[in-house]
Amino acid sequence: PKEVRVYEFAEAINKPLEDVIEALRELGEERDKNDFLGEEYIETLAEEFDVPVEIYDPLAEFDYVKKYDEQCPEEEFDTERPPIVTIMGHVDHGKTSLLDRIRNSRIAAKEAGGITQHIGAYMVEKDGKKITFIDTPGHEAFTEMRARGAQVTDIAIIVVAANDGVMPQTREAIAHAQAAGVPFIVAVNKIDLPEANPDLVKSQLAEMGIMPVEWGGEYEFVNVSAKTGEGIDDLLETILLQAEMMELKANPKCPAKAVVIESRVEKGKGPVATVIVKNGTLKKQDSFVCGKTFGRVRLIIDDLGKQKKEVLPGEPAEITGFDEAPFAGDTLVAVESDRIAKETAEKWKEYLERREKSKTTKATLEDLQKMI
Ligand code: GDP
Ligand code: MG
Repeated sequence: PKEVRVYEFAEAINKPLEDVIEALRELGEERDKNDFLGEEYIETLAEEFDVPVEIYDPLAEFDYVKKYDEQCPEEEFDTERPPIVTIMGHVDHGKTSLLDRIRNSRIAAKEAGGITQHIGAYMVEKDGKKITFIDTPGHEAFTEMRARGAQVTDIAIIVVAANDGVMPQTREAIAHAQAAGVPFIVAVNKIDLPEANPDLVKSQLAEMGIMPVEWGGEYEFVNVSAKTGEGIDDLLETILLQAEMMELKANPKCPAKAVVIESRVEKGKGPVATVIVKNGTLKKQDSFVCGKTFGRVRLIIDDLGKQKKEVLPGEPAEITGFDEAPFAGDTLVAVESDRIAKETAEKWKEYLERREKSKTTKATLEDLQKMI
């Protein structure tokens, strides 16, 4: 929160300093003219002196994501989009195996001649519906993205090995999903093993308040084997059911908003990033801002290595055309022109720097005048 000094406030509202100090005293606050006045007092005092005060963040106009959300509000999302799924769980419980097994279940895609490209996310189709999986298992990516303000996951899969039960990272993964408000499905894996004990997993989680549906609770548990493929269809169906309940929607007619999930610099191609489109349609030749960087979409490659002209909501793709490599968690927004893209990126950079600074310094008089 911004802070201003008592005398600065008096000057800004054009009242005698003594009156302001007196008003503060009446509020039980003994303040000197050089003391700082918190946001809460600014509001109270403004009421006291009957001056209209609007406290605003002078940096907010630089927030291109916020601006986008105002221009393309969720109320106008009218088209179903695929759910975006992240797999988390304890080490060795089978996250990578499960992702591989699901990826390899894409028979139709293989028939179409595609060759799997590891771009950091992939899409599968089940009963004519698409599901996007983020291909980096574990909660590091999940938390890093969240730290950068991007929430890309709609549904989490918590994998628990049926021969091992709930382990420390199982609890961690659940805590992360819960903190993010992301619903999750429990995949009880390694069900093929003779020592598998799925009921033990259920009772362990039930004890933590994660009550299975079969026991009258709200959590879906699915027994699977990444090794044999047992239960995978069931898992995909459960994801689709969950997604249906969530009514995940987007507006494909909007300009694109996407989240970077991976990025790297490739020889000959320059910066390459995998993005998942959250709203709108991302098209070739779109000018875009993406955190501190910007660019124009040159190539779009999907998870089967095919070139595409556009990416729809919920879909992942690898794109090139960045001025500099973005960071995972950066939000890409398509804008009208290269010039606007560049300017917006510069403003965003300034925004981040000023925000960083404002954590350590008090507001200046200039800020105050903007505030009042
Ligand atoms: P991660 O650390 O969670 O990514 O786990 P991995 O996918 O690397 O799997 C750890 C080990 O468990 C590997 O040796 C896998 O072959 C094995 N594994 C994974 N899923 C299954 C399963 O469903 N059944 C059996 N029997 N082994 C599995
Ligand atoms: Mg792994």
